Amino acid sequence: HDSAKLLKTNESEAVPQPSEGYGKIIAKHYNALEEKGVQERSKSRIFYLRNFHNWIKSMLINEYLTKIKASKKHNAPVRVMDMGCGKGGDLLKWRKGNITHLICNDIAAVSLDQCKSRYVDMQNRNNRDRGNIYSIENIAADFTKVRLREKYKDPSMKLDLVSCQFAFHYGFESLLQAECAIHNAAECLQPGGFFIGTILDSNDLLARIRKAKSNAFGNGVFKVRFECDTYKPPLFGAKYHFNLDGVVDCPEFLIHFPTFTKLAKKHGLKLVRREKFYEFYQRMHVEGRQLMGNMKGLETYPPHSDSSLVGTEVDDYAHAEEFLKSDN
Ligand code: SAM
Repeated sequence: HDSAKLLKTNESEAVPQPSEGYGKIIAKHYNALEEKGVQERSKSRIFYLRNFHNWIKSMLINEYLTKIKASKKHNAPVRVMDMGCGKGGDLLKWRKGNITHLICNDIAAVSLDQCKSRYVDMQNRNNRDRGNIYSIENIAADFTKVRLREKYKDPSMKLDLVSCQFAFHYGFESLLQAECAIHNAAECLQPGGFFIGTILDSNDLLARIRKAKSNAFGNGVFKVRFECDTYKPPLFGAKYHFNLDGVVDCPEFLIHFPTFTKLAKKHGLKLVRREKFYEFYQRMHVEGRQLMGNMKGLETYPPHSDSSLVGTEVDDYAHAEEFLKSDN
């Protein structure tokens, strides 16, 4: 008889993968999230972090809407799609940006319904003030699997801006899904239009997990548990579980940025700028001082939990070379 010695080498081998992918699990998580009022949210332990993220998104959206408007005739319509819009946390930002039309997309139908009600509340407030407000349409669909353009009320409509805030990392589950997500962002944009977004920094996550010398790191507020090889992460499906104070509790995937850039180029998108949040803050904090003053807790830039890791580039993605050189 042969004796068998089985050594468990990798945590990911022990985790069963759902055959249809993780979309349903992700949608279920976001659908189950309770809608909390402003009062309740201000008591949250991540109140300041959320404010900081909202400041980043406001400044980013404003920066690109300003560029778009500068290239158009006065009063020309500005059309936008928000991929992974959630409960509509950015609806007010679009109103301030004075856009004409918004396509709201999310995989979580319950979140999208909450987004619709928020929009109606905003519309009623606007009617009272006799202000103008943009029109919306909603698409409950997985942006990694469904061609969103076919769901538009007018599929021939061209957009000026596509925004995907804190959601694109769900798209890097597989090459096919990442391509579909990028295609969705690119195909409806008119020449000169922009795709903007915010994602987790994979280099930072990898640097932290290697420093932790285990498969997880975090603190009392967040936890990241890796479920893939962290020394040779796959380009797609590099899965980790992210928990943020009960608000996020989901599988997510690393985005290898050069791979993302290459796929985006294939779909006609040229990289204009990539910044880490602290770089964005450095560039925008003077311009955004007033807005920051209105948001509690942002008088000083939130400190990094481990500044020694900030800016660390993980450079051993040698296995990506082949993909990056390929015709894909
Ligand atoms: N963009 C919103 C914001 O900044 O407040 C919500 C961000 S939340 C962290 C991520 C959102 O992405 C969730 O609403 C989730 O349902 C959505 N999402 C995740 N995977 C998706 C997919 N494949 N297609 C469409 N939406 C997705």
